[in-house]
Amino acid sequence: MSTTAEPQTTSTFSLELSDDQRDIRDWVHGFAENVVRPAAAEWDEREETPWPVIQEAAKIGLYGFEAIAQFWADETGLTMPIVNEELFWGDAGIGMAIMGTTLAVAGIYSSGTPDQLLEWVPQCYGTEAEPKVGAFCVSEPDAGSDVSSLRTRAKYDEAKDEWVLNGQKAWATNGGIASVHVIVASVDPELGSRGQAAFVIPEGTSGLEMGTKVKKHGLRASHTADVFLDDCRIPGSCLLGGKEKLDERLARAREGTRAKRQAAMQTFEVSRPTVGSQALGIARAAYEFALDYSKERVQFGKAIIENQAIAFALADMKMEIDAARLLVWRASWMGRQGKQFTAAEGSMSKLKAGEVAVWATERAIQILGGNGYTREYPVERMHRDAKIYTIFEGTSEIQRLVIARAISGVQIR
Ligand SMILES: Cc1cc2nc3c(=O)[nH]c(=O)nc-3n(C[C@H](O)[C@H](O)[C@H](O)COP(=O)(O)OP(=O)(O)OC[C@H]3O[C@@H](n4cnc5c(N)ncnc54)[C@H](O)[C@@H]3O)c2cc1C
Repeated sequence: MSTTAEPQTTSTFSLELSDDQRDIRDWVHGFAENVVRPAAAEWDEREETPWPVIQEAAKIGLYGFEAIAQFWADETGLTMPIVNEELFWGDAGIGMAIMGTTLAVAGIYSSGTPDQLLEWVPQCYGTEAEPKVGAFCVSEPDAGSDVSSLRTRAKYDEAKDEWVLNGQKAWATNGGIASVHVIVASVDPELGSRGQAAFVIPEGTSGLEMGTKVKKHGLRASHTADVFLDDCRIPGSCLLGGKEKLDERLARAREGTRAKRQAAMQTFEVSRPTVGSQALGIARAAYEFALDYSKERVQFGKAIIENQAIAFALADMKMEIDAARLLVWRASWMGRQGKQFTAAEGSMSKLKAGEVAVWATERAIQILGGNGYTREYPVERMHRDAKIYTIFEGTSEIQRLVIARAISGVQIR
């Protein structure tokens, strides 16, 4: 998460982690191993937000404003992907229940003023005693990949200095249970995505209702639901970035100035590697489980790993996971340095990591045979969890579109 206006850092790229990064990695790994993993199957079956686990994360300082600020402060950009990989190695459903709030935080960070950031981000997390979650709502029933066609409207009531929002949001992580909802709405439909703005909806605002809670294939410990906005009135100050900036931006869009589109693309490219690192955590968990299993499972009088078919599959899994991590780390470092993503390197990292996670978890099931297909073993859950990474935060097809356009300069459709 970053804004393009932010001062650039000048850290050189290195694969050698610092002492701080190693400490944070080991600390998160310990939490993932001792708290998240043992709870994973239960919350997957319950399909509920694992509040006690979120509270544990808040207690040790892994969930909250300070934690996210600390991870983000690392000038190399590698701490965020490292933290996410370890947490999602523990379990992706619980990982998303903990990290889903960062979607709202990223939305506030990329569009809001510093004052808005300080006001709203702590409210997204709540307190250690009473943790809360945030939601970032862009998608709608008729606007998924095509975010330029959002129908949710925000109209300004000048007399009251209030915004009035109407519409339906779909698939929102933490939708309806969040303390803070960040809603992307159209203020000028004729301008498509350039006529959109982001708003925060404070807790308890009337007119915001949770719709159907979605029953999902995977990531079942993470709450997903529709959100309805019915004459939802919020103070003028809830427009992220402020009215003056919005008016300037709309005026530029009407004149046809294209500069801002580049800025939006840069913001997406910066957040995608973090999503990729989550997929990486799932892939690594499945690979490690399958490796251990293959050394213990005996058929035809020898461990199954002694067959090249199994050993080579594991070799390929390890290689693909490491390749994906290199792309994730490169893009994370580039984003933190404010480098231009000339070949959509952020999209590349998310695409590769998501597809590796789906493939590697399927391979893991194959290596476990019948056991892999049962809920007695975790790899079937990992496979279900992995699949979302080729769908949300831009589908694999959309990532390919972004990369193809970036490398060719052609408006490929
Ligand atoms: C568990 C979960 C959590 C989510 N969390 C959030 C959230 O917190 N906030 C939020 O705003 N959204 C969220 N989403 C929504 C998610 O981002 C969308 O599902 C995603 O962007 C895809 O949109 P869609 O489902 O409408 O698919 P569609 O856009 O209808 O796509 C259907 C298929 O068509 C393909 N396609 C579409 N256009 C093109 C094209 N131009 N070229 C080639 N292929 C194309 C797609 O790749 C896909 O294969 C979540 C979704 C899920 C399932």
